Formats: sequence, C-alpha cells, structure tokens
Amino acid sequence: MSRIRLLSETVASQVAAGEVVERPASVVKELVENSIDAGAHKIDVLIRRGGISFMRVIDDGSGMDRDDALLSLERHATSKIRSAADLESVETLGFRGEALPSIASVSRFRLTTRQPDAVAGTEIVVNGGKIDVVRDGGEAPGTQVEVRSLFYNVPARRKFLRAENTESRNIEHQLHLQAIGHPQVAFTFARDDRLIFQLPVTATLADRIRDLFGSDLLNQLLPIQSGKSSATRISGLIGRAGLSRQTRSQQLVFVNGRAIESPLLTGAIREGYHTALMKGQYPVTFLFLEIDPGAVDVNVHPAKREVRFRDPNGVREAIVRALQETLAGGREDWREKFRGPVPEPEGTRAVVSQTSLGGSPPCDLPQFEREFGLRGERSIEARPQFPHPSEIAGQAQTASPARTLPGPVESADGAPALQTKRPPQQFQIIGILNKLYVLMENADGLVLVDQHAAHERILFEELRRRMEEQGVPSQKLLITQTFELSPRDSDWIEQNISVLQKMGIGIESFGPNTFKIDSLPGFLNVTDGAQFMRKVIDDLKSATDRSSPLRLGEEMIAKTVCRHAVKANDPLRYLEVEKLIQDLLDCELPYCCPHGRPTMIQISNAELEKKFGRKV
Ligand code: ADP
Ligand code: MG
Repeated sequence: MSRIRLLSETVASQVAAGEVVERPASVVKELVENSIDAGAHKIDVLIRRGGISFMRVIDDGSGMDRDDALLSLERHATSKIRSAADLESVETLGFRGEALPSIASVSRFRLTTRQPDAVAGTEIVVNGGKIDVVRDGGEAPGTQVEVRSLFYNVPARRKFLRAENTESRNIEHQLHLQAIGHPQVAFTFARDDRLIFQLPVTATLADRIRDLFGSDLLNQLLPIQSGKSSATRISGLIGRAGLSRQTRSQQLVFVNGRAIESPLLTGAIREGYHTALMKGQYPVTFLFLEIDPGAVDVNVHPAKREVRFRDPNGVREAIVRALQETLAGGREDWREKFRGPVPEPEGTRAVVSQTSLGGSPPCDLPQFEREFGLRGERSIEARPQFPHPSEIAGQAQTASPARTLPGPVESADGAPALQTKRPPQQFQIIGILNKLYVLMENADGLVLVDQHAAHERILFEELRRRMEEQGVPSQKLLITQTFELSPRDSDWIEQNISVLQKMGIGIESFGPNTFKIDSLPGFLNVTDGAQFMRKVIDDLKSATDRSSPLRLGEEMIAKTVCRHAVKANDPLRYLEVEKLIQDLLDCELPYCCPHGRPTMIQISNAELEKKFGRKV
C-alpha cells in the first residue's frame, strides 16, 4: 500500500505558514506590502498585545471584487506574476501568492474589501484555514484585514513567541522599514489603543526620517554622494562618521524598494565605514540600491528578506565607494561650524585661525617624528605650557581661568594671530580638562576634543598618505629571519606581498611555505620579525578577507598608530594643541579616530541655552 499521501490544502498552508509567518511582525509585513502593492495612499495599523491577540491593517488601495477576494485566499494565487519569466523582473513587493492563505490558516482571519466604484464590498471570515463566512460587506473603498489569536491552532508555534513587548517592537521596526521605504504613503500605528506614530504623506525621504525619528537624527545624516556605478545606483542618507548605534535597527538597506538583510550588505557597510565606526557599534544608514531586476533574485527566502545578486562583488564595491565618498564629503559639514566668527573674546584669549599657523610646530611627539621621519625635529622649548588644572584651581579666587591662559598667539613671522582677513577655520582654545580634553569655542558653541583620539586620526591619515604615495620607510632588522607558515597563511602572504612591501615589511618567498624577512616599518618597535608577521596575519587575515590591499595597509596602520599617539596624560604646549586641532580639521575624517571613537564633541549654544533653561 502506498504510504505517500497529498497533504490537505489547510495542512499545506500551515506548513508554508511556518516559513512566511514566523511572528506577528511577519503578518504585518505581508499585509502592509499587499496594501502598498494595491496602490494605497494611506495605511493604518493597529495591534493589541504584541499583535498576538489582534492585528488590523486598513488601506485605501484598489480593493478586490468577490471572486478575487476568494481567490486571494488560495495558495499560489497572485495577481502579480503570471509566468516564471515574470520572476526575472518582479516590481511588486509580493509575488508568491502565499501570504494571505498562510496567515488565514494559523489565525482567526477576517478580510473586508471594496473596489472604489463597486456598490458593495465583500467580507470573508476564515478560521484556521476554513472559510466560515462570505457575504456582502466592506464599508470604505480599500481593504481591511484583521488577524486575531495568531497561532491559536498551532501551539508549537505559539510557544516560540516572545514577550508582548518584544513582539510589539518587532512590529514597530517592520513598520519603520515600510515607512522609510515608502515616504509617499501615509502611515499610522496604534498599539493597545495608543497612537504610536502618525506619518503624513511626504515628498522626500528626509521628511519621512524627520517625522519618524526627529530632526536631531536628520541633522546628523549626509545625503549619499556618487552612485555613478552604472549597474548599481545608490541613493539615500547615511549617518556621518561617529554616529553609531548599539544595534542594527537603524541600519536599513532597500534593494529595489524592498528592505533586505544580508551579510553581503552588512559587510559592505562595515567596510565603507571602517575607520569611522567603533568596534561593536552599527552605523545609521537609509540606503537605497537600484539594480536591474534581472540582476537580483528576490525569490530566495519565503519572507523575501534576502536576495541573491548576480554580481555580488560589484554591488559590494559600489556600496563601499558610495559610503566612503559620502563620509569624506561630510567633513565639510563639520567644518562649516568652524567657519563662522567666534564671538568676540573677553580678556586675552586669542582667536586662532588656520592662516596664522604656517610655521607652527607639529603636535606629534618628537620621538615619533624621529622614528618615522615625518617632519624635522624642532625646538619647542620657548612656548608657553598650559597650566595644570590644579594651578587653575588655586588661582580661581583671584583670576578668571581665561586669564591664566597664554596671550595672543604669534605666527612664525611674528605677526599677531588676530586676523584682518576672515580665516577659513576659527576656534578659540579655552583650556585642557583632565589632561586629555581640549576645550574650545567655535561659532556654534563649545567643542571638546579628545587629544589622544585626535592625534591618532592625524597620524593615521598621514601614514596612509605616505603608504599610498611612496611607501613606508623600513628599517633593517639586525638579523634576517626565515620562518615557515601553514599553506593557507603562505597563500595569504603571497597574495599580499606587494602591499606588505609597501607597508615597509621586507618580506620575500624563500622556498615552499617559507619566507625571509629582513626589514620592518620604521615606526614599529619590534625585534622579532617572524613573530610580528604571525601576529599581523592573525590580525588582518579575517578582517581583510576579499578586501583591497589599501585596506590591509590601513588596518595595519590603525593597529599600530595608537601606540604612538599622544597619551591621555601627556601635557601639550599651547601651540602644540593649536596645531593638533588644525591638523585634525584638515583630516579627511576629522570627527573620529581610526577605531571610530569620536575625536570631537560639539555642544551647541542652543543646547547650552536649553540646559540652562534660557530657552525651551
Ligand atoms: P502576493 O502578494 O504574493 O500576490 P498574497 O497572498 O499576499 O500574495 O495576496 C494574494 C493576492 O491578493 C494579491 O496578489 C493581490 O491580488 C490580492 N490582495 C492581497 N491583499 C490585497 C490588498 N490589501 N488590496 C488589494 N488586493 C490585495
Ligand atoms: Mg502579498
């Protein structure tokens, strides 16, 4: 006797539902996508108890006639594609014809729908996949779907639901995705009868972001520049360097209008931000990729969350380039804050301007300079030193702290620094806090600079520039060393040997899986070359999988630079601090160190006024 039997429609739907409907948020996703596909201008979502007890999505879209409404509940019934060939160029969010029957098979489901010019609409009630009621109904044109008691008939699934709060948050995140992806659609979201957000139709992504997340976030975003790559067009807004989040909840990527999660995209974003992001933190991105539909396969995942790209490397590179160009362009934004005039100083503080600093000494530690030969040695004896905070404290009764600071700065030719011509960047150093933070004033208010992080950034960019231009000077080892590596590590070295040499590592192949090393970068303080190489391989192999040679060099510099940068407690002289700030402002990514920690924090005058209750 045959043991194979066809599953009943209901059971088959429940099996499919396991993939499409993982949790309440997946129901909301599918329903909202259907509304958008139906041309809705307004979508209202209401949930109760994390969506587990109740979810309702109302739209003002095309609606369905009775036949279509009934058909929509059949498996693989869709109005969106007709043939396998159509899968090549899907332009709607749905196409699998699985969502409605899947949802209806695991809940108490009610659909009412009416086409705009129809006299009557249709109401259908389905319980656990069984159609119980079909009758005339449906008030306003459009479609309304209600889903009650999700998974009431599939206890195994119900057990996997999380706390109501978590499920609610998932739903809200899902709605964020839809709202960001479709600014031209109005959304409202109510949770347990409380209105959570109400988003009007907007013309632009920026307006939608402001409505959803506030203008504070919007002000920290940069519009994507570039998108010149022909195959992948990229637009959207991304967080400037240094803006980061603990989770990926604001790292959004849309591919042809669909929110997509993929290791490829996440990896590309991380790469694009590399030195602009702290370890373990995530950037804020609202990225929109447009790719020829034939070059993306959206039919990979039942919930359509993933895609397959025909040219993954091309996509990856386009993203990396767009992010890097945008972030580098973003520094202008920041510099803007240093352009306006600083309010007239009281007392004797100097307004320091870039043009006055032509002959100032570098901030770099002299020892570092000697090692690396970045600049000639210069005497810095004669310059005033910042008073230690304790000294300031001691004088606080008699003199204002500002007065204990040095007088007007003189430039190399002896002319006073106070400029007649409007300098491009203006700030005023107030003092040093905790032997680490430089306090300054600019047109926008108060700025705090972490001198160590700032110095790291400056050294990093300097070294990188040198590496690109002429290669890093190397220093001969006292003894040439040979060492053996595993075949995999040898391969890695072979592939990267020219970069390593540019980095100042004198390494050559010396027989199978064996290498000879006779010099190392001058700025390193290493004696055992072989041991150093093993560590470099460990550190960099994983980080630079598939990435560019330049990136390998950058990683290495970032890892070594820290040890040479000004330490927290190193007292700097006034001119050194000045130079440090100027050098920092000249960097490509001035606002964070190579490890992504911020170098400067701006506290605007407006913020101060708010804090002191001068303004509401
Ligand atoms: P898919 O979206 O993959 O086509 P669904 O099961 O989600 O599959 O929906 C089946 C069909 O029902 C859709 O193709 C569409 O024609 C119709 N439909 C679903 N929801 C709506 C809606 N809100 N407004 C109008 N038509 C809808
Ligand atoms: Mg659908």
